[in-house]
Amino acid sequence: MKLMLLGPPGAGKGTQAKRLEDAYNIIQLSTGDMLRAEVASGSDLGKEAKEVMESGALVSDELVIGIISSRIDQDDCQKGFILDGFPRTTPQAEALDVMFADKGMTLDSVIEMKVDDDAMVERITGRYTCSECGAGYHDSFQKPKVDGTCDKCGGTEFTRRADDNAETVRSRLEAYHEQTAPIILYYGDKGVLKSIDGMAGIDEVTAQLKEVIG
Ligand code: AMP
Repeated sequence: MKLMLLGPPGAGKGTQAKRLEDAYNIIQLSTGDMLRAEVASGSDLGKEAKEVMESGALVSDELVIGIISSRIDQDDCQKGFILDGFPRTTPQAEALDVMFADKGMTLDSVIEMKVDDDAMVERITGRYTCSECGAGYHDSFQKPKVDGTCDKCGGTEFTRRADDNAETVRSRLEAYHEQTAPIILYYGDKGVLKSIDGMAGIDEVTAQLKEVIG
């Protein structure tokens, strides 16, 4: 099964993709996570992407298309995946079509998570992850059961993304509306787009996703 989640930063794509991984035994492909791993490793690609990411702008189409194309050739992707954060521009969506055609793959569902922009700044600036296992938390909406201890692995170290600050979030939302929102029409015109209410609670959003995925 090949799924794609669309929506602005903070819509819950990553949170839900992790839940869909378990539900459908497929893997999350987040270009943001892949780029952050490159930045952390200090690779040339990471060096190229770091500043752009910290400004809230999009890195070049060429760079992310290259990353995703080689990633979906790997063995663990053959049973299926959830695209999270890719494509983000019309040229990326067009390149994905070519990639899928070349590899004989088809997309099962493209799902737009509809949210209010105003709520995204609070969602994003309050989020953090366990440094050990990557589990996601939020200062207001999803606290660990025991303060300072990860529910999943017991880890006590947490990290916040460098671009999850109010100023950068606004640039990221702007980039979304200017460069990414048009691809919703692209998939709408193809007749493969489904929409769900991303403002609902986390469990309710998962239930809606499972319903539209079928
Ligand atoms: P995300 O984790 O999806 O919010 O992505 C974090 C940052 O990585 C974005 O603000 C962009 O700078 C960069 N990025 C991630 N995916 C893409 C993409 N498909 N195209 C361009 N830039 C991307």
